[in-house]
Amino acid sequence: MTNKADKGACLNKASFTDSDWTNWKWQFSNRVRSLNGLAGLLGVPVDSLSSWEDVLHVYPVAISPYYLSLFDCADESDPLRRQCFPDPREIHFSLGGVDDPLEEERDMPVPGLIHRYSDRCLAIVTATCAVYCRHCNRKRLWKENVKFSQRRFQTMVDYIARTPELREVIISGGDPLTLSDEKLDWILGSLRAIKHVEVLRIGTRVPVTLPMRVTKELCALMKKYRPLWLNTQFNHPREITPDSARACEMLLESGIPVSNQSVLLKGINDDYETMKDLLYGLERISVRPYYLFQCDPVRGVDHFRTDIWVGMEMMEKLWHNISGLCLPRFVLDSPGGRGKIPFQPFSFLSDRKANLQTLF
Ligand SMILES: *Cc1c(COP(=O)(O)O)cnc(C)c1O
Ligand code: SF4
Repeated sequence: MTNKADKGACLNKASFTDSDWTNWKWQFSNRVRSLNGLAGLLGVPVDSLSSWEDVLHVYPVAISPYYLSLFDCADESDPLRRQCFPDPREIHFSLGGVDDPLEEERDMPVPGLIHRYSDRCLAIVTATCAVYCRHCNRKRLWKENVKFSQRRFQTMVDYIARTPELREVIISGGDPLTLSDEKLDWILGSLRAIKHVEVLRIGTRVPVTLPMRVTKELCALMKKYRPLWLNTQFNHPREITPDSARACEMLLESGIPVSNQSVLLKGINDDYETMKDLLYGLERISVRPYYLFQCDPVRGVDHFRTDIWVGMEMMEKLWHNISGLCLPRFVLDSPGGRGKIPFQPFSFLSDRKANLQTLF
């Protein structure tokens, strides 16, 4: 993949055949994965990208041709480019941060399964993603390159089967929809066979980064395992495209509710107008805004973190102005693994000096 960007986009989809472009396996295997690939996109010599070389050793890169077609490579401040292009600040940080601020590893009764809240657990089934988001809070997993393993997953299933308080299982990663239909069928089928597991949930960014993955076959497969909910991650209004809208529409038509978990990202979506456009756009495509996450203090992500008060003030203004159907819950996943803490906007929050006591 070394096409120099046409005007306006890193990649012009017109340079590929339709049957390649719409084939998710082609999209997946043609992801840009190397410094050479990035140099080709930018039309610059590889040597000029040496500041990225060390970054890629720690945090690999992967960008689907589809996602590349949505932005201009030459624009370093582009909100989509920033989500997937390496940045030297990932390894040269000032404030540090830790690999696993949520201490997920501590709440794993068996490898890869996080059981933190009593009635639900989260299974990390693969570390692979269609696009590696530079702000990811599980970026520690990329280099371990955890692949799907039937044996590893069976151990999780055994734990879930002997833990009757678990009524919901979240299938996550990495991105579970990078797995084949056969593997997904087996995963969903194994969980569905457990009587006390009432609800399944898939966490995936594929509708945003590789919407071709949502095929008729995948929808038919997922439909068998309802109630099945799907949470995705649109972070910017420009990610809502005819392709991503179609993917969500197909899921919704199959009876799979689609919700969205955004991450609050500095310079990407931490201003009122951008967030409003994103939330309105999601409402238009019938995707329910569920959470807006304060960006966690993950090592190598510091440059994406916004002051929590900026987020609070933005949420308060949104809460006053836009439809309730568009409003996500603003939450902080507290460092140390104590779980999610909601920050509901109240009308008095903009006056930081307000004495809460006087209101009650
Ligand atoms: C966020 C999260 C969940 C799901 O929580 P919801 O509030 O139901 O979305 C489950 N397990 C872990 C470990 C989580 O971090
Ligand atoms: S798709 Fe999710 S798990 Fe994968 S890199 Fe992006 S945020 Fe992380």
